[in-house]
Amino acid sequence: MNIEIVTIGDELLLGFTIDTNAAHLARELATLGVRIVRRATCGDDATAIASAVQDALERTGAVITTGGLGPTADDMTKPAIASIFGRGMVLDPDILAALEERWRKRFGHELPASNRQQAMVPEGCTILPNRHGSAPGIWLEDAQHRWVAMLPGVPREMRGMLADTIIPHLRDRLPLGGPVIRARTLRTANIAESALADKLGELARGVNGLSLAYLPGNDGVDLRLTSYRLPARETEATLTEAARLVREKVGRFIYGEGDDDLAALMLGECAARDLTLAVAESCTGGMLGMRLTAVPGSSRVVQGGTIAYANAVKVRELDVSQSDLDAHGAVSEPVARAMATGARRRFGTNIGIGITGIAGPDGGTPEKPVGTVWVAVDCDGEVHAVRAVLPGDRSEIRYRAAQLALDRLRCAFEHDQDAVGWTARG
Ligand code: ATP
Ligand code: MG
Repeated sequence: MNIEIVTIGDELLLGFTIDTNAAHLARELATLGVRIVRRATCGDDATAIASAVQDALERTGAVITTGGLGPTADDMTKPAIASIFGRGMVLDPDILAALEERWRKRFGHELPASNRQQAMVPEGCTILPNRHGSAPGIWLEDAQHRWVAMLPGVPREMRGMLADTIIPHLRDRLPLGGPVIRARTLRTANIAESALADKLGELARGVNGLSLAYLPGNDGVDLRLTSYRLPARETEATLTEAARLVREKVGRFIYGEGDDDLAALMLGECAARDLTLAVAESCTGGMLGMRLTAVPGSSRVVQGGTIAYANAVKVRELDVSQSDLDAHGAVSEPVARAMATGARRRFGTNIGIGITGIAGPDGGTPEKPVGTVWVAVDCDGEVHAVRAVLPGDRSEIRYRAAQLALDRLRCAFEHDQDAVGWTARG
């Protein structure tokens, strides 16, 4: 089943309110196998609402709207849509009685005249009860079974009504064993989209009939496999097989699935191996420590860290040699290695991680452009270091440097130092 969404509200067009309703509707309906094929947003304007909904009805015959059901003058969804169906507005005595009751109980006085408008509904509609607020939703359908479901704009009320009435209703209309939409996300780190696509080769355009989307973010590129056409009972096995094929090609860059957090995963690995960890951070200024200690239970693994921003601190607190700093600069392999080892020794841990880089916007040179980062991981004296030139602005570079450090720890655990994405060794 294909559905279009029309979200209504000046605040959405102005950008003051982010349209979370449309995203929520799309995600929830996908699990049923309902595909949102188009989204539109219009202001609190009867003509705009009527034309957006009319266009959508002509294309798909199935439309969900949110917003504009309330009692105020800018709430004109119901009459605007009734006019498309050639219906008038009538007073619904049950809604009126419920509203009057609610006002007496809650506010101790009569229903204001403006709120009576909430009891006006399109002729011949079905009322969708609202357990979470005062404005009920409306289902309007014509003889050709073209329909519009009007839901409230308040996200909590919209979500409640979707779950209470719309989803059960649509489920009844869908053929049993029909297609559903299911996705699986594989999370990669420290490799660019284009490099992933190269390595995926044939699979880059889709795997076994499933679509493959590249979703780059600060954590890395997520690879999302989506099944649109299969019945529920076939999707799990198909997604698992497709994920296996993707892992065959780029598995060494994949650190997790779904919403896995690399910091949490690495802490888990350390805990399972009974290892302790310390950090020495320059350009990330404590971000790696923050990400690690954000995970509950991290105290079993994380012993401490040093924010060694100034060269003098690198020397004094981490035993970085002044001659290495003079000869190679603070952003260099020997300094990153010495920081990792210094952290491990000073804090008496199994693992030390050192990060040093140029986050910008200033400080870059032709040999060491902004984004240049050296990361070293010292595991019980075995030290590996990599260099990367990370893309993005200052905050992205800092975040990505911390993620790179976590990913190098993962490579150390997997004995895969050659998993170089946008990194290079020595
Ligand atoms: P009410 O009965 O409260 O007037 P309503 O159906 O008329 O409900 P609106 O007045 O359009 O809804 O919006 C109510 C609130 O919900 C506003 O704060 C608005 O910012 C928020 N809202 C409306 N539409 C959306 C949306 N698509 N995504 C997220 N929030 C929304
Ligand atoms: Mg509104």
